[in-house]
Amino acid sequence: RSIDWKRFSDAIAGIEIIRDATQVAKLSKDYYTYSPLLVEQLSDKVGDLVVRPTSEAEVLKVAKACVQQRIPLTVRGAGTGNYGQCIPLQGGVILDLTKMQAVKWIQPGIACVEPGVKLAALDKQARETGWEIRMAPSTYRTATIGGFIGGGSGGIGSITYGQLRDRGNLLAVRVVTMEDEPRVIELRGDDVQKVNHAYGTNGIITELEIPLAPAYPWAELIVVFDDFMTTATFGQALGDADGIIKKLVTICADPIPGYFAALRSAIPPGSHVALVMVAEQSLEPFKAMVKEWSGSICYEKSAQAAKKGTMLLEYTWNHTTLHARTVDPNLTYLQTLFPYDPELKLLEHMYQHFGDELMMHLEFIRVAGCVLPAALQLVRYSTPDRLHEIIRYHEEKGAFIANPHTYILEDGGRKTVDPVQLAFKEAMDPYGLLNPGKMKAWEMRDRS
Ligand code: FAD
Repeated sequence: RSIDWKRFSDAIAGIEIIRDATQVAKLSKDYYTYSPLLVEQLSDKVGDLVVRPTSEAEVLKVAKACVQQRIPLTVRGAGTGNYGQCIPLQGGVILDLTKMQAVKWIQPGIACVEPGVKLAALDKQARETGWEIRMAPSTYRTATIGGFIGGGSGGIGSITYGQLRDRGNLLAVRVVTMEDEPRVIELRGDDVQKVNHAYGTNGIITELEIPLAPAYPWAELIVVFDDFMTTATFGQALGDADGIIKKLVTICADPIPGYFAALRSAIPPGSHVALVMVAEQSLEPFKAMVKEWSGSICYEKSAQAAKKGTMLLEYTWNHTTLHARTVDPNLTYLQTLFPYDPELKLLEHMYQHFGDELMMHLEFIRVAGCVLPAALQLVRYSTPDRLHEIIRYHEEKGAFIANPHTYILEDGGRKTVDPVQLAFKEAMDPYGLLNPGKMKAWEMRDRS
């Protein structure tokens, strides 16, 4: 494949191009280093150049210039994904959408935005109108809404609203295609699932309509317990407490809190903790619940105070992994969904079975109306074989693993080929140029 880059840049004249090798290398990577297996596979992957459009019209121009010469194109938001989702496997163009950050309109309960808007920025604007985003990853400050939809799954807020894939959590998108004559397609209703969590393999999202939630003043608290299973069952009970308004229920087993440098002075050594965001209106019943469970509150910030300094959410979800890896880079992690069971029997078994090798970190989320623990356990990494054995053991016992050690779309959380997403790719990206190598269904089709 020989690409005439002069012809390419002439075709997109007026649009920012980054050619500096250091910059291009940086913008070719995400947070794949959390997985020792992905480090082996992705460290040497780099794009040829980065293009930064500022509008949908410019995206159309870039798409056309790529199609003309069959140049691979990998879409990028903030590059905070963990599975190498936006790492170009076959070089080509990195399409950085961070300059497209307009909030087009906010109506009661719905926002229409460009993909590059950062979640915190969108949330701030929404809150000025009495609304807020329903859910955000712990990369709230840096991640883009386009990248969250393209590669994320859920986060702070999922205890109430479920995950991004749940019907109603994405209302509409505009998508640029990679046909000979690229065009814009609008998808609404269930059609949004064609591109939702597709790693940018079958369309470039240029606009999104996302639903909002009523905004609450969120107090931040840490509750300490003496033993892990009491902490976990407290998390389950809080998740199930429909009358208590909450946004976050995170459980970390000892010794995880010891990795939280900025919180260490507040948390007694050796404790198991619940990190929570509760609406201030619900603090009284929440505290009654803490008392009933014999927990003690060691950290409390009002919503007003929480606006400054340490954000509790930046110790939860995959930020828990981040803080632990800062201290011990040999740690990696798993993503597990335990089956619904108010007694948490399987969770207890795994906690005891793996002992010190796995440190339990739970995020309670709502799945099809039931609250259950998703775990992002920290793993003391030894070998690839052992990591696979740990994953296999969980699956055999009935826990669902969304494998964070693969960049293949279907091998991560989805597990099966999605015929709808494949059909959409066949129609919209007939030359297979969008983020090539990530959608297994497409790659297998090429081989057969
Ligand atoms: P990127 O990493 O740039 O892109 C993600 C994927 O989306 C890529 O495949 C990319 O090609 C595709 N994409 C980006 N923009 C578009 C577009 N406009 N059209 C089509 N495809 C597009 N994730 C969670 O879900 N929940 C969490 O709580 C969470 N916590 C995290 C904590 C840490 C410390 C880290 C490092 C990661 C975490 N993540 C989490 C993963 C990641 O931060 C989020 O999914 C984030 O929303 C990704 O946004 P981004 O802008 O960085 O996307």
